[in-house]
Amino acid sequence: MEAKIPQDWHRKSATIKFPRELFINGRFVKAMSGKLFATINPATGQILAEIAEGDRYDIDLAVKAARQSFDKGLWVRMSIADRKKIMLRWLELMEKNFNDLALLETLDVGKPIRDSLAVDIPLSINCIRWYAETMDKICDEIAPTGYDSVVMVRREPLGVIGAVLPWNFPLLMATWKIGPILAAGNSLVIKPAEQSPLTTLKIAELAAEAGLPEGVLNVVPGFGETAGQALGKHMDVDCLAFTGSTEVGKYFLRYAGDSNMKRVSLECGGKSPNIVMADAPNLDVAATAAAWGIFYNQGEACSAGSRLLVEEKIKDRFLEKVIAITKKIKLGDPLDPNTGIGAIIDQKQMQRVLGYIDIGQKEGAKLLCGGKRAIEASGGYFVEPTVFDRVQPNMKIAQEEIFGPVLSVITFKDAEEAVRIANNTIYGLAAAVWTSDITKAFRTTQALRAGTIWVNSYDDGNMAMPFGGFKQSGFGRDKSLHALDKYTDWKSVWVNLKTS
Ligand code: NAD
Repeated sequence: MEAKIPQDWHRKSATIKFPRELFINGRFVKAMSGKLFATINPATGQILAEIAEGDRYDIDLAVKAARQSFDKGLWVRMSIADRKKIMLRWLELMEKNFNDLALLETLDVGKPIRDSLAVDIPLSINCIRWYAETMDKICDEIAPTGYDSVVMVRREPLGVIGAVLPWNFPLLMATWKIGPILAAGNSLVIKPAEQSPLTTLKIAELAAEAGLPEGVLNVVPGFGETAGQALGKHMDVDCLAFTGSTEVGKYFLRYAGDSNMKRVSLECGGKSPNIVMADAPNLDVAATAAAWGIFYNQGEACSAGSRLLVEEKIKDRFLEKVIAITKKIKLGDPLDPNTGIGAIIDQKQMQRVLGYIDIGQKEGAKLLCGGKRAIEASGGYFVEPTVFDRVQPNMKIAQEEIFGPVLSVITFKDAEEAVRIANNTIYGLAAAVWTSDITKAFRTTQALRAGTIWVNSYDDGNMAMPFGGFKQSGFGRDKSLHALDKYTDWKSVWVNLKTS
């Protein structure tokens, strides 16, 4: 990694170059329509850059490029050793461009620069490294038969994969798709969220520089209803990997049914419960995790611990700690290395978050801190970290994904009631339980319906740990070797050895 971190990110941001065009067939190109759209800096409300706006014609071009590269075997038939060399060279280029990537991410989505530097960019690079390293370690299967035959069960790439992505962790979500898709030998077309195209375009450019053959990785920024829908309905896309809201995820199931029955995997929303029992091993540690579990990334995290379930008898004591930690978090300029909470992605999302805060008050929850727009003079979209006490499990702020820095606190009497409340939403992405009782911990993990469960921790993970949802949080897993299942299929080949 680049050792020198500039302290003056504002000065650096005045000179940084923005990628502005679609990346198709190994090069930057204009949109066929010639149209542009603005990507906004959420911390100032000002236009950062005008980006080429892809629509269905550009998506079609990108899918054709991906198909051609796949059919010609430019990537899939290259030796694994050479593929790995290219992936590793690509990583080196990302590391060389580490600061630029971090700055582009922060400018584009308003997240604190310290998070881009410590989390988004290193984890994205690590993800590509992890899959590059798996490529020469996974073997296919030989199924048992008799002496006279051999059955090979081969894992084969699906072909052309489409990926439609959200704006909250733009590069990380892109690499969670790119890593296993490329490791499996596929070609792909990515449609980043319209709010956050910059880092994905940048790494596509670096991939070409590293030697990734043309057409294997294509990036088409544009809007959901045009470019996103076109990818979802394309007749020559074999599989569509989506990360985003549950509402839009359901469209992709329809698109697949209305087109070529492409496979679909959905990583969708959440309303994750963070359950703190009275016998939690360390209430200070649990309180810090509860605050950061929701306020990290401005609460714009699919796995955010947006429902804090606290055992009644420790509630007041525990909330005091959470509020004290919350008040210490610095809200403000994302380019200030001390900032802990940056700006909300755009005006619409900010209004949505403020709307939920209003609803919470009208529903009768008690506002303990925050609740307002902040630093309005900056032109940016800042919302104070907000904590609601006395939330009832059926209130909207306990049921619906707000996707902002708003914590809903609910109390319970015993583990059974905690699990009942925890499971009572349409979502099932993540959950946590804090207790010193090993049996209670284990029983709770058995009863919770969620794809990821932490015990005495929040939001930990590594590349070996699959990530994805139960219920309407979606299906299919990102990360780990299981992600390869989404982008491959098994081909059985029976070979007869008998000659007479
Ligand atoms: P979103 O659903 O609004 O948009 C996601 C993507 O879908 C964007 O690229 C958008 O352009 C596209 N899109 C929107 N409407 C479309 C349409 N009609 N047809 C085709 N494509 C369309 O989500 P968002 O606001 O970008 O991201 C926030 C959501 O993502 C939250 O719900 C969050 O929980 C979820 N998320 C989930 C995970 C996970 O791993 N489970 C990770 C990150 C984010």
